[in-house]
Amino acid sequence: MTNQETATSGNSGGEKVGFISLGCPKALVDSERILTQLRIEGYQITPHYEDAGVVIVNTCGFIDAAKEESLEAIGEAIRENGRVLVTGCMGRGEDAEAIRARHPKVLGISGPAAYEEVLGTVREVLPHRHQPDPLVDLIPAQGVKLTPRHYAYLKISEGCNHRCRFCIIPSIRGDLVSRPIGSVMDEAEGLARAGVRELLVVSQDTSAYGVDLKYQTDFWQGRPLKSNLYSLASALSELGIWIRLHYVYPYPHVDALIPMMAAGKLLPYIDMPLQHGAPSVLQRMKRPAAAEKTLDRIAQWRDLCPELTIRSTFIVGYPGETEAEFEALLEFIEAAQLDRVGCFQYSAVKGAEANSLPDPVPEQIKADRWQQFMALQQGISARKLQQKVGTVQTILIDNVSDEGATGRTPADAPEIDGVVHLPGVTEFQPGEWVEAEITAADDYDLWVS
Ligand code: SF4
Repeated sequence: MTNQETATSGNSGGEKVGFISLGCPKALVDSERILTQLRIEGYQITPHYEDAGVVIVNTCGFIDAAKEESLEAIGEAIRENGRVLVTGCMGRGEDAEAIRARHPKVLGISGPAAYEEVLGTVREVLPHRHQPDPLVDLIPAQGVKLTPRHYAYLKISEGCNHRCRFCIIPSIRGDLVSRPIGSVMDEAEGLARAGVRELLVVSQDTSAYGVDLKYQTDFWQGRPLKSNLYSLASALSELGIWIRLHYVYPYPHVDALIPMMAAGKLLPYIDMPLQHGAPSVLQRMKRPAAAEKTLDRIAQWRDLCPELTIRSTFIVGYPGETEAEFEALLEFIEAAQLDRVGCFQYSAVKGAEANSLPDPVPEQIKADRWQQFMALQQGISARKLQQKVGTVQTILIDNVSDEGATGRTPADAPEIDGVVHLPGVTEFQPGEWVEAEITAADDYDLWVS
């Protein structure tokens, strides 16, 4: 019943964490979940004690021999590194006391599946040098919340082959490095086994997945699969859980995913950062897919999958943005009728090429443009939400309290989109799917009364 493995994967940059996983497949799934979230938050996983800022030991308390092995592993980690967090089956009751008695220097002890606690302690003892930046990082600015255990982020690649002028990701994280599809699918399967009901596929450029690998064939469950987005989406759809795609660009090959969404295999949701609607600004930004006919493509997608939700982000006040270009952006927004939209006022990021562009837009004009943009988009988003009143939606329950529950429809990504309020509904558990008729909507959220 012992299965010792020391994690060996790593990404470029970020503080380093060592990880020792002991025990049964269930404990291994917990380890995968913690490792996944550490990677998502930008931590690097190292197999060397000397490199690690902290070492996590996921313990096994199944039989006495396993406990002894866990205690020895903790002792070795303390000797070799000194900064050790303990989690897993031995992290409760008498076993936890035994750990404290033998290894008083451990920095923290938590029980099995205590993801949030482990991540919280790692953030404390090994803080990031930088705060998450919504323009740079793949995670919400407040970090990843693990309290709802029924959704998880699945990172499929690191880095980016594009060179958008306002972005410093390629200089920090390098060119695109995709994970082989077998490794991504093993992780996804492990997360589904651990009770995850929704996977949020993230990367800097999800549509480019596998380009660097030349779409090489890899294996999952003995089956050959090409490392490309279509194969990945197809394989993920077999897991029987919600699959949500983030950071997809409107390239022609993305068209092939839409029938999968229409057939209910993937969530009918695309998070597509467009950044602007004026071709001249997109060219100055050096955006990928700038020349694609985005409005036509969106119209075709909606023909194939009318329930498709499109989320996007935009930048106003990019250097040189003229009044006519801003008007073109508003026209684009009006025509595209996107469901969920975020908007940032352009601000210089240290090291970005765009900093040296001429004709910076004055702050007041940026702020005015942002107000105009948001007023227009708020009306569009609110009208789209009103159209849901009277429809029956599948809702994934996120939280339940004495007052009621909140959840999300397929159109709502966690932490960035709206929620569904179900006042007085207390009989469900987080992670359950329910069907209910939407009875009201405001600018952001839906209600079931
Ligand atoms: S696509 Fe552009 S904005 Fe996105 S990570 Fe790559 S260079 Fe940065």
